[in-house]
Amino acid sequence: MDELINQAADDLAGARHVVALTGAGISVESGIAPFRGKGGLWEKYDPMEVAHIDAFMRDPGRVWSLLVKDMKVTLDTASPNDGHKGLAKLEEMGILSTVITQNIDGLHQAAGNTDVIEFHGSFARQRCMDCNQKYDTREVDISEIPPRCRCGGILRPDAVFFGEMIPQDAMWRSQQAASDCDLMLVVGTSAVVQPAALMPVYAKQSGAKIIEINPEKTPLTLDISDYLIMGQAGEVMNRIIMQMENK
Ligand code: NAD
Ligand code: ZN
Repeated sequence: MDELINQAADDLAGARHVVALTGAGISVESGIAPFRGKGGLWEKYDPMEVAHIDAFMRDPGRVWSLLVKDMKVTLDTASPNDGHKGLAKLEEMGILSTVITQNIDGLHQAAGNTDVIEFHGSFARQRCMDCNQKYDTREVDISEIPPRCRCGGILRPDAVFFGEMIPQDAMWRSQQAASDCDLMLVVGTSAVVQPAALMPVYAKQSGAKIIEINPEKTPLTLDISDYLIMGQAGEVMNRIIMQMENK
């Protein structure tokens, strides 16, 4: 691994415009379970089913009890780990410009990144399905499930469920960032959820170098990534930053 850490430090230092694409894996070390991979929610339920808009519309209470309630409890107190902090440090060093994240946990902003595209929306707010009123998630009372708006409507996360469209602005800005970068760091994503997984493909097509950080191989590893640094996001990011600071 040492050689690849070295290589990544050199590639980052030499890049003109770096963009990161992150997935649930970067938040694992903050205590948030991913969907796929070891310890993922997939081992308990089929997220495609539980986190699908059709399942939510059919039975919002069930989706709140199985998925959303636990997520609220975890996210209300989660904090950034060394993976998020490493990306914030890269921005501070003037190397990284934009983070495209599939996560809805707000941890990149909490770590200090200032240009974060929330590809799948955010869990920080809940919105009423009847009147569209928004609420800060931490202030939502979950003693009754599903929680309700003052108007009586059911609240839902202001995030994208499977089966829903990507917000147009996030889609457009991500495509732009992917096509403009000369290096993309792909951290902690299984790269199977579309269209997010297309962003490294757009970057590659525009001539960018692709570096993956993940303890497991993904569908990008063979054809799209230049190399995969196999490991946990926090540890790998720490080592890359340390290497860059020592040069
Ligand atoms: P995923 O759950 O499909 O895949 C997680 C990936 O992270 C796997 O490839 C796994 O090998 C890797 N991983 C596990 N531990 C890691 C670590 N310590 N460091 C680096 N990588 C690690 O995640 P996805 O690709 O983001 O797709 C799932 C969808 O679910 C996303 O759209 C996301 O919005 C949503 N989701 C978000 C959160 C969150 O906000 N934190 C959590 C669960 C799911
Ligand atoms: Zn309402």
